[in-house]
Amino acid sequence: KLGNATAKAELGRAAWKVLHTTFARFPEKPTDDEKEALRSFVHLFQRLYPCGECAEHFGKVLAKYPPQVSSRSAAAMWGCFVHNVVNKRLGKEEYNCENIGDAYDCGCADDEVKDSD
Ligand code: FAD
Repeated sequence: KLGNATAKAELGRAAWKVLHTTFARFPEKPTDDEKEALRSFVHLFQRLYPCGECAEHFGKVLAKYPPQVSSRSAAAMWGCFVHNVVNKRLGKEEYNCENIGDAYDCGCADDEVKDSD
């Protein structure tokens, strides 16, 4: 069956954006519960990802490189790394993960000021 490469690429860009932004906002010092939440989120994200071929391949990536949930920076670096694994498979350029900490801005106010509105 013929796929729709444009839609698949658009889905991929949106999905990576959500993933990287989620890692960028993960607590610096997560509780055990928060670590387990991120681990579950990544595995369920893979399981339910709408592109079947992508989900199948990403499942193998997760089996080889399990999500790193010990801290925000570990999660962000891991996300950058596995995105590069997918990039490589698709013949895309490797992304420089050095500044991954600043690359994804959620555009949300800090949690500290959340109560004032
Ligand atoms: P994308 O790879 O979507 O990246 C978007 C932007 O993120 C880039 O422009 C860049 O600014 C930034 N970026 C790039 N690399 C990194 C990195 N390592 N870390 C942080 N930011 C980065 N498509 C398929 O055809 N086959 C597949 O098997 C497949 N598997 C996928 C699995 C998953 C889990 C996901 C989320 C997507 C998958 N895709 C797959 C889609 C594919 O990865 C791309 O999203 C799509 O091809 C569009 O690519 P793009 O070149 O626009 O940039």
